[in-house]
Amino acid sequence: MKSQVKAVVIGGGVVGVSTLYHLAKKGWDNVVLVERKELTSGSTWHAAGLLPLFNMSYSVGKLHQYSVAFYQELERETGLSVGFKQVSNIRLACTEDRMDEYRYYSGVGKTVGVKVNFLTPQQVGDIWPMCNTDGLVGAIQHPEDGYIQPNDLTTALARGARNLGAEIYRQTRVIALESRREGWLVTTDKGEIECEHVISCSGNFARKTGAMVGLDIPVIPVEHQYIVTEPHPEILARKERGEPEQGVLRESDAGYYLREEAGGLILGIYEPSAPCCYVDGPDEDCESELFQGDLERLEPHIEACINRVPAFGEVGIKQVYNGAIAYTPDGNPIVGPAWGLKNFWLNEGHSFGITAAGGAGWQLAQWIIDGEPTVDMMGVDPRRFGPYAARGYVRRKNEESYRNVFTNHFPDEERAAATPLKTAPCYDRLKALGAVFGHLYGWERPNWFCPAGYEVPADGVGSGDVLLGNNVSPPLDDGRIVEKYSFRRPNYFPFVSTECLHVQSKVGVLDMSAFSKFIVSGSGAQDWLAWLFCNRIPKTVGRVGLCHMLSKNGGVRAEFTIYKTGKNRFYLVSAGAMERHDWDYLCKNKPTSDCINLEKVTTQYGVLVIAGPQSRALLQKLTDADLGKDQFKWLSGKFINIGVAQAHVLRVNFVGELGFEVHHPIEMQNYIFDQIMAAGAEFEVKPFGIRAMNSMRLEKSYRLIPREMSIEYAALESGLDRFVRFDKEEDFIGKQALIDWQKRGFQNAFVTLEVHGVTIADAHGSEAIYKDQKLVGRATSGGYGFRIKKSLVLGLVQPEFAKTGTELEVEILGAKHLATVVEESPYDPKNERLRM
Ligand SMILES: Cc1cc2nc3c(=O)[nH]c(=O)nc-3n(C[C@H](O)[C@H](O)[C@H](O)COP(=O)(O)OP(=O)(O)OC[C@H]3O[C@@H](n4cnc5c(N)ncnc54)[C@H](O)[C@@H]3O)c2cc1C
Repeated sequence: MKSQVKAVVIGGGVVGVSTLYHLAKKGWDNVVLVERKELTSGSTWHAAGLLPLFNMSYSVGKLHQYSVAFYQELERETGLSVGFKQVSNIRLACTEDRMDEYRYYSGVGKTVGVKVNFLTPQQVGDIWPMCNTDGLVGAIQHPEDGYIQPNDLTTALARGARNLGAEIYRQTRVIALESRREGWLVTTDKGEIECEHVISCSGNFARKTGAMVGLDIPVIPVEHQYIVTEPHPEILARKERGEPEQGVLRESDAGYYLREEAGGLILGIYEPSAPCCYVDGPDEDCESELFQGDLERLEPHIEACINRVPAFGEVGIKQVYNGAIAYTPDGNPIVGPAWGLKNFWLNEGHSFGITAAGGAGWQLAQWIIDGEPTVDMMGVDPRRFGPYAARGYVRRKNEESYRNVFTNHFPDEERAAATPLKTAPCYDRLKALGAVFGHLYGWERPNWFCPAGYEVPADGVGSGDVLLGNNVSPPLDDGRIVEKYSFRRPNYFPFVSTECLHVQSKVGVLDMSAFSKFIVSGSGAQDWLAWLFCNRIPKTVGRVGLCHMLSKNGGVRAEFTIYKTGKNRFYLVSAGAMERHDWDYLCKNKPTSDCINLEKVTTQYGVLVIAGPQSRALLQKLTDADLGKDQFKWLSGKFINIGVAQAHVLRVNFVGELGFEVHHPIEMQNYIFDQIMAAGAEFEVKPFGIRAMNSMRLEKSYRLIPREMSIEYAALESGLDRFVRFDKEEDFIGKQALIDWQKRGFQNAFVTLEVHGVTIADAHGSEAIYKDQKLVGRATSGGYGFRIKKSLVLGLVQPEFAKTGTELEVEILGAKHLATVVEESPYDPKNERLRM
């Protein structure tokens, strides 16, 4: 065993071995993998081997697409079969809502480059003659999809890695991990290894591995079952006749997948009541472990399957597999740097690990070796969860996440398990005013406000998925169901319209306490921030700047509002969901000198946004500070009294109206909230929610991370020209790379599109954009602008199609709509309203 290497990978499942392979493939030959038992003795050995390309996320979709192509290439490279059968995959739809999901998804597929065919029920019957097509509305097919032999795949990856110089130590357990100045000391039961990097790929053991280094990794497995049948005479006969395999069949509305296996069938089920297992990790001697099958739990799904494919009920059950499948609170894996630790990487929490292993290993190797991935990994970044995602939360959320694998993934869906968890003090007041809450990073945030007495009409409630049913929001405390999820214009559309128009004509209040907040202070603070951000950092006390952190390659990593509060003191605000990510990045890039101090103050300050033409008059009633236009300018901040409380008030907002962000001590929130509501009565102040804010930010072409801005797009592709200050005296991260990228030529340009002829469904983001039938870009956000009464898309298109006036087409739920490139900020393009 080597005692000094560049990197140690922990875990010899498909994910670990793929990571090892990709590190070696990128040129690191001095890398090793340590496996406590035999390769594939964890979850990998009992996986059903499906490779579903279907994924609603643009970035995860890219990882899966890479895997499917790479596995075929691996076979050629190593000469070892991976048992890949490209039999295609059909997903059935029994409801119109489900068809909408597929229509929406096809935009992701097209922009990622995954082939998706739409099938009629009759075409389903032609491909799957044993399938009863009664009650089907339609289906989609992935012709390039199929299944693989997980053990063969892992063996081929291991051969490939060894051929490139990597080593694998089986029957070797990692028992301790110790951080060293230049890396890590990995202690195994066979000896010690010093290394620069450790990559944890320990599957169901993730929490145990995490505990060795003080990480509470939000991975807890859930039991997952599939049934293998005896051979069926008709399937055998089809084989004999030389007919093709019928492919993978998924009846999403009934929560199962089915495929042929050795002349019989495999039926895998995602039932609503599967429990978590190995909550504190498996036993030390656990190997290739299965749990007792529990067919009772699966009964309704088995019945649904027999209705659909009667052959399943005509043969005996050969074996029931019930294995642990790693889960995370949102169902996506955890791939990237561990928070708070140097050179410690996570490739954990894979529930579709056979599918994702290739792509995750590929991008993680790039991240480790080059310092950045090339695909935007925000959707799988370990830092998307915060400290709130601890054992109890993760248990509840992971079971919820499992039971929702096949439910319809509506864009406005909210999942209720483990909520409310983090609430701002004004939560109860907002609730009393009708707030319908959404959940972000553990926080409750008001999405919209429901008028008293309103509920979804009774005929709208019952048309959900056949067995899974998530087409409506959970009931409010008084039993009313107020939200029907949809890919089309939702039932709350008119209420959000009212909120936007009220903010435009009068004044509204929005709780944004979930914002991430940090303080940077010390004599080195100004220079350090100037190096971290591409913009000019405010030099005058009281000034506020909108600032962007670039990636090493010139993409956009994060966006902050920076407010200079003192000579050497800055208050930084960023998106609520980015707290751990941004904090980790700041900490890891802070010089060791003691002339810079960093503090996380998220939960010390609440934020109330007051916006609308009457916002100044309202706030002025509460303070003796002069809020006049010239005394309190746009992009500045003041520390003022609000009644008897004190708060930092910033003249910025995300809705494009005259407005103020009141950053106050959290314990004074209810006092301040009550003052605002009382003083605002004469101006008819009303609360508004995140959905209204989102509509208004579209009208202002305000970008969001990781949508319009991400590490995949150069900052200038995202249209940040006026923010990137190449002329500032200080150098900044990503500057040279961005200049080089510009010289090479950009592939994309940011556009705002007005979409014509939309009556029932606006874009949401991820829709394909065409010019003359040719794919030329993708929507990153979409929705309706109530103030300008236009359907809008923000997106990235090939630069030659970005000129104002260019006519393009946006495909929304299968229908192509004419769309015109319009000037940025179609609402109040000169920013006169917010500078009032
Ligand atoms: C019944 C079932 C069916 C499934 N079907 C599919 C499917 O069809 N398609 C799909 O994509 N996915 C499927 N999955 C999921 C898939 O099996 C997993 O996502 C995947 O195998 C995870 O691989 P891994 O390498 O992360 O974990 P594992 O395969 O569990 O490997 C982790 C390894 O780490 C080792 N290890 C842990 N701690 C240490 C330590 N301290 N020292 C050394 N070694 C250590 C373990 O021994 C283990 O071998 C299925 C899962 C189940 C349970």
